[in-house]
Amino acid sequence: MGVEKKPEESKNQPLQCTCVKDGFAALPPELRPQPRKKSSLRKVTCPGCGLVYSTNRATDLCMECESKGVKI
Ligand SMILES: [Zn+2]
Repeated sequence: MGVEKKPEESKNQPLQCTCVKDGFAALPPELRPQPRKKSSLRKVTCPGCGLVYSTNRATDLCMECESKGVKI
């Protein structure tokens, strides 16, 4: 009598999930590829002249002091 069967095809969605937008959403942050690889730049203060700058070198001495031969 009053039994109406809903067609199961009403939810006929394409086989695309939201992860298509972000293919790495399921990955933990450390496993995601970094858009910009962070260089090993660190902020240092030159012990020779007190200049604050960024370097990826092992020494804190700035280029200028290094060229002057300043030793830490
Ligand atoms: Zn310096």
